[in-house]
Amino acid sequence: MSAAELGEVLPLVAKTAAAGRLPVVVFDLDSTLFCTGARNLAILGDFVRGPGAEHPGLAELVASLNNADMGWNVNDALRRRGVDDAALHAELKHFWNARFFTDAMVLHDEPLPGAAEFARACRAHGAMLYYLTGRHVGGMEQGTAASLLRHGFPFLDGKSILHLKPSFTLADRLFKEEALAAIRALRGEVVATFENEPGNANLFLRSFPAARHFLLETVHSPEAEAPDARLVRLGDFRHS
Ligand SMILES: [Mg+2]
Repeated sequence: MSAAELGEVLPLVAKTAAAGRLPVVVFDLDSTLFCTGARNLAILGDFVRGPGAEHPGLAELVASLNNADMGWNVNDALRRRGVDDAALHAELKHFWNARFFTDAMVLHDEPLPGAAEFARACRAHGAMLYYLTGRHVGGMEQGTAASLLRHGFPFLDGKSILHLKPSFTLADRLFKEEALAAIRALRGEVVATFENEPGNANLFLRSFPAARHFLLETVHSPEAEAPDARLVRLGDFRHS
C-alpha cells in the first residue's frame, strides 16, 4: 500500500513540471533518507575503547550489536541488554552528545534502502529537492555535504537545496516551522514530504494539504505527538 503510494510521487512530479510549475519534494535526513544506526554504533565502539573500557563485558556486548539494535538512543540499546550502571549511562550520554552532532560522525550514516535512487528519480522527473534537516550549521555541514555526494544523492546541481539549522541550540520543531516560509518562497508546488518525526510530518500536512506526506517508520523521539491518520507510513524507499 505505502510502496504503491510512493510510486505515485514520480508521476505527480512529472505532471507538475509539465504544467509549468516547480515540483518540490521535501526530505528530512536523519532517520528519513539516512539511517543513523552506524553512527550510533561507531560512537559506542569509540566509547568501549575509551571511557567504557573498564566496564566488564561491555566491549563484547557492543560488538554483538548491529544497526537494527539502535533505537532512539544508545543508552536504551544497552539497557535492553541489561546494562543498568547509572554512572556509566551518564558518561555514555555525555560522550554521545559530544560526537553525534559532528561532521566526522555523520559520515558513518548509510542511506535507507532505495533512498538515493528515489531522490535521483524525483530529480530526473523535474523536482526541486529540498533537504530540510535539524543538523546544524557550524559543525555538521561539511559531513552532510560529503555524505550526500558520497551516496549519490542529487546535490550541487542547481535544483537541490540543503537547509540546515542555523544554530545547534535552535529547537528542531521551531526550525522546521520557520523553514516553511523558505519553502513557500520558492513559489513552486510541494508534491511530497518525507519525515520520521510525526510532529514534523503533521506540520507539513497542515501546511501543504495538497501534497502527499510520508512518515518513515524508523525511529522517532520518545515525546512524539500522535501521527495524523492521513500520513502514509513507509518502511524505506524501495519499490518506488
Ligand atoms: Mg529525522
